[in-house]
Amino acid sequence: MTSHKILCELCDEPLVTALLSELGRPLTGEMFCPLGPGYDNPFQATQSWRYMLCPHCHNRPFAVTDEQATASTADQWDGPETVKTDKGVYWIGSKYFPGVSPSRDVVIPTEEDLEAEWNARVNAGLVATTVKINSPKYSATSTHRQKADKVSKKKRGGARGM
Ligand SMILES: [Zn+2]
Repeated sequence: MTSHKILCELCDEPLVTALLSELGRPLTGEMFCPLGPGYDNPFQATQSWRYMLCPHCHNRPFAVTDEQATASTADQWDGPETVKTDKGVYWIGSKYFPGVSPSRDVVIPTEEDLEAEWNARVNAGLVATTVKINSPKYSATSTHRQKADKVSKKKRGGARGM
């Protein structure tokens, strides 16, 4: 899995990088790595997301509601469910790519489903099993090619003369 840039959700500045597979709730500093050579991890290894601050806008870099913050203090909420990456929002702990929300109802058909659908269409006569091409459009004539050759030769000749 490749490393992704993690952005501040409030000011959009890239803060750290992370392997998405290394992220888990609740987020702690050790799950993140510096942006690159010459950069520090702005978070301490054992630091909870609750105390993380964006070095650019000085806010907590996660968009958390007051209710969520209160719930997390009482250990009733494990903290942010998402992080903002340079490729979009990533749902922590999911197998979804950044930018894809697992809450969307996407039905992924099985091979059997697809085959059943295909067979139903064939049986209903909705699928053309042979295609005849006898349109004159598709039979290229030699005169067209000859004309094209002449034009390109003229152009080349002109360019050489200059
Ligand atoms: Zn910020």
